[in-house]
Amino acid sequence: MEQKVNKKHTKPNHLTTIAVHGGTSSDDKDRDISQPIHLSTTFERNKDGSIPPFNYTRANNPNRESVENKISAIEGSAAAIAFASGLAAINALLENTLKPGSHLIIPDDCYHGTRSLIETFLKRWDVQFSEVDMTGIANVEAAIQPQTNLILIETPSNPQLKITNIREIVSLAKKHGITTACDNTFATPLLQKPLEMGIDYVMYSSTKFFSGHSDILGGVLTTNLEDETSSRIREYQKTAGAVPSPFDCWLLNRSLSTLPLRFPVQCANAAALAVFLDKHSNVEKVFYPGLPTHVNHAIAKQQMQNGFGSIVSILVKGGQQQALQFAGKLSLFKHATSLGGVESLVEHRRSAEGNHPLSPENLIRISVGIEHIDDLMEDMKQALG
Ligand code: PLP
Repeated sequence: MEQKVNKKHTKPNHLTTIAVHGGTSSDDKDRDISQPIHLSTTFERNKDGSIPPFNYTRANNPNRESVENKISAIEGSAAAIAFASGLAAINALLENTLKPGSHLIIPDDCYHGTRSLIETFLKRWDVQFSEVDMTGIANVEAAIQPQTNLILIETPSNPQLKITNIREIVSLAKKHGITTACDNTFATPLLQKPLEMGIDYVMYSSTKFFSGHSDILGGVLTTNLEDETSSRIREYQKTAGAVPSPFDCWLLNRSLSTLPLRFPVQCANAAALAVFLDKHSNVEKVFYPGLPTHVNHAIAKQQMQNGFGSIVSILVKGGQQQALQFAGKLSLFKHATSLGGVESLVEHRRSAEGNHPLSPENLIRISVGIEHIDDLMEDMKQALG
């Protein structure tokens, strides 16, 4: 017979432990170590007719609750709200912080999908936006209008790895009563915690580093606010229904357990590769905030810890043709969109940016994986010539 023991609960203090145990519940009657996948879309009511905590999967699901709890434990936030994609998370933020006639400020080097969402759909609601080089706070201040409701930053930015000074943005926005949000996809909470610097909402495309294996689409908003807008976003998640499936939540929960092991290797590989590329005669320019030559290196060093990320962009000497030829010659680095996986990828961004391309024609974005750095270097060497 099982003996009753007085078990003390150890509160994990280290990220590697939080990433494994955060958000998991130990009260499952079958005592699974790996949480089961709850495919059921509906849950039985209590006998008295009252509604149990899980009722209908659009509103909530045990796997979604676990992954949200784990993300908020890693982030150190009051809440994490999961969505079916990064853009669904951004859309929820925009729909709930803006109103018809609002104005928002976004970076000039913003993920092209975010820009396209605003340009294509929000314009229909008479929402105006300014694209600003956020490496200079004066540019952001100059763009503020009486109807500015939101400043959305992305640091490091996609794909030119521009760095925005988060604390400067927060103090400017506070002065004008403007909501702030940061797309922290490239940094992850391992390198940067914008909420701790005063940002109102942090957003991740969990498709990228959180997933880490290029097999889950997802997005998440984190916040410490407990006000009307943050409650509305939570309600919007349940009502608009752009929610991740239980299987995607389960996969993401598992993937997050190894984020603190995967990501530092990716960052170290990227840092070594950036130094190598910076010296190569067939590379015109390297964009990597970890390089002392990066224009915002000093700010990056101030607000990022433990590394500068695993994305490096380069301008290949010549033009579009030379850039595409280089991508085609690579063998370990596959030419494909997306980033953040354990496998290294490259992408010619301009040809991926639809009908509003912003990237230079010879820019190649490199997402560095966990392969051995010597193999990655060899592949780069043979492709660059
Ligand atoms: N934010 C950044 C910085 C991204 O790179 C991406 C996708 O590439 C997104 C948001 C959108 O995420 P998703 O593709 O998961 O919708």
